[in-house]
Amino acid sequence: MPKIKMTTPIVEMDGDEMTRILWKQIKDVLILPNVELKTEYYDLGLKHRDETDDRVTSEAAEATKKYGVAVKCATITPNAQRVEEYKLKKQWKSPNGTIRSILDGTVFRTPIMVKGVRPTVRTWEKPITIARHAYGDIYKDVEMSITSAGALKMVFEPSDGSSGKGQEETIFEYTGPGVAMGMHNLDDSISSFARSCFKYALDMKQDLWFSTKDTISKKYDQRFRVIFDEIYEKEFKSDFEKAGITYFYTLIDDAVARVVRSNGGFIWACKNYDGDVMSDMVATAFGSLAMMTSVLVSPAGIYEYEAAHGTVTRHYYQYLEGKKTSTNPMATVFAWSGALRKRGELDKNEKLCSFADRMEKASVETIENGEMTKDIFAISELTDKKQLTSEEFLTAVAGRL
Ligand code: NAP
Ligand code: MG
Repeated sequence: MPKIKMTTPIVEMDGDEMTRILWKQIKDVLILPNVELKTEYYDLGLKHRDETDDRVTSEAAEATKKYGVAVKCATITPNAQRVEEYKLKKQWKSPNGTIRSILDGTVFRTPIMVKGVRPTVRTWEKPITIARHAYGDIYKDVEMSITSAGALKMVFEPSDGSSGKGQEETIFEYTGPGVAMGMHNLDDSISSFARSCFKYALDMKQDLWFSTKDTISKKYDQRFRVIFDEIYEKEFKSDFEKAGITYFYTLIDDAVARVVRSNGGFIWACKNYDGDVMSDMVATAFGSLAMMTSVLVSPAGIYEYEAAHGTVTRHYYQYLEGKKTSTNPMATVFAWSGALRKRGELDKNEKLCSFADRMEKASVETIENGEMTKDIFAISELTDKKQLTSEEFLTAVAGRL
């Protein structure tokens, strides 16, 4: 069969450790035999980030802005131990953080479901996608330990000095020691978050839920709700109606109860902290971190696909000892298929879209037919199942393509 042609390149961001090994295997075994792959390659491996003083990360993000679709391998976020291990010039920032701040996006995480791995919550039949706002709140807070009696105040001083617009509130009159916290958010950031969520819901043709605690937080959380409502009414309502999907706002506690009773198949937009906590709960309840996909969607409609897990360091050290590992490549395969499908949609390249569909279907069917990596082998309820190395698994998938 002739290979599928591409018109526009995908931005390819290579990464580190075990996922870098899987990256090459996925390309060699699944993609390159079928697609005349066009990518603009950026090596985000830690060594090359260090060599380029991390410029390669910003360059990759800028290229993503230019082309609109990227696929990223997991990368090491260096800590003190990594600085030592890789003899780094400095402790470079998290690549995902750098890319996110350039593209200004929202991260959507969706589990891959397979027969044999049942979600802990019995009613969940379809995946639940969590969209987490990635700016502000307690992640950029200011905290104080209060050691004596006294008044805690919140003061706002307008930078143009116009005294009339200043505000001052007493937070609490302490009679003894305690703690205090101040936090903020921005209309711009909340609006970007809202637009990314509405766009993604239209893309996926799934309902969008949004939850805050606006009955208690009458200005802060209320602002989130109002911005979502306004943007929905003005920019998305008619498209949602045409697509037959709904936007639904409810209180966070009501949302949690409804999520657990639901059948899944929707997107749940969460404030920063709620998204942090709920995504770990949802991922675990669906089975395995190795089966969680992740996509960054910017309000300008730019997409960066990746796996939700890290570089699987423990497996990499085994690989370096010459052992064959059984690391699960599913989330990275789906990062590739997501990027290829999106590129195909934008370029009206149906063959590329259908290849992406087939690659996902073949991967899921392989597991459902009892051939899987160790992590899934441990939890699958199939009676006739076999544990494969990563390479054997990918070869089995290729056989079904
Ligand atoms: P991790 O790489 O996600 O791995 C944690 C553990 O989860 C593994 O040791 C493994 O458990 C299991 N696991 C994760 N992915 C798996 C897969 N595909 N197949 C099978 N098992 C899998 O997290 P980490 O060890 O905390 O972090 C390692 C490095 O990744 C760090 O340097 C961190 O900075 C980086 N990181 C990068 C990203 C990103 O680029 N998006 C995200 C998170 C972390 P067992 O060992 O029990 O088999
Ligand atoms: Mg977390």
